[in-house]
Amino acid sequence: MSLLSGKCGVIVGVANKRSLAWAIAQAAAAQGARLLLTYQGERLGENVRELAATLPEPPVLAQCDVTVDADIAALVETAERELGGVDFLVHGVAFAPREALAAPFVETSREAFRIALDVSAYSLIALANAVAPSMERRGGGSVVSLTYLGSERVFPNYNVMGVAKAALEASVRYLASDLGPRHIRVNAISAGPVKTLAAAGISGFSAILQIYRDRAPLRRNIEAAEVADAALFLLGDAGRAVTGETLMVDAGFHIMGM
Ligand code: NAP
Repeated sequence: MSLLSGKCGVIVGVANKRSLAWAIAQAAAAQGARLLLTYQGERLGENVRELAATLPEPPVLAQCDVTVDADIAALVETAERELGGVDFLVHGVAFAPREALAAPFVETSREAFRIALDVSAYSLIALANAVAPSMERRGGGSVVSLTYLGSERVFPNYNVMGVAKAALEASVRYLASDLGPRHIRVNAISAGPVKTLAAAGISGFSAILQIYRDRAPLRRNIEAAEVADAALFLLGDAGRAVTGETLMVDAGFHIMGM
């Protein structure tokens, strides 16, 4: 019996083959889930189409910019029409303007703060609210977002993204409280650093990878597939009593004092 057979999921945040959301999509598809993958705009649509063609069962594709309410509404309509509803949602999007990840944090502009929090944190609330009626109708659901330890500790150049991740993790808890009575669980995975497109925007990222290799209890970096395995736990029935949680998948780095 596959872990997600009979379940339908929406996965937001596949940009290319290195995306954490893509690793989760592959794992979920291998476990029998039917998927809808989104892409932000036509620029990356082609990438996503090519990746989608490699899955065992071709997923439904839909354009969705998470800052546009009409795109989110259209996404849910497409999921209803093409999949018959939504059992799980993976939220793997984050963005901050480049200058906010380069200049000192104290110089963060009002606009950069607004954009980072809107794309990286508010989008989880908007998406969860949009898919909740479908999940409830199907007897419940599971939402998983992706976060980083920069929400609690200071990492060079992570800057406003750390503030956005703090808001995201708090949102996970408030959403879990609101949606729990409707049998919808909401969790986050706090992943160790993985070289992806979004990570490329953080200067000094290679140094962060090296520090994890040197100091994490497991003395190595993590792989996207390991994030995906943790997501399978939270998305499927094995995680049925877990909600409001931020699960650390970081080779243990976060427990170290130095
Ligand atoms: P990624 O492949 O670049 O994924 C980020 C995704 O966010 C892209 O698909 C990007 O689409 C999307 N996005 C940005 N703005 C959007 C918008 N307005 N509407 C819709 N989509 C939008 O990088 P990733 O590392 O896998 O990131 C996925 C998540 O994991 C992020 O939340 C990230 O913070 C988190 N995370 C990453 C790491 C790491 O080390 N890589 C560690 C912990 C947590 P476009 O490319 O089209 O803009």
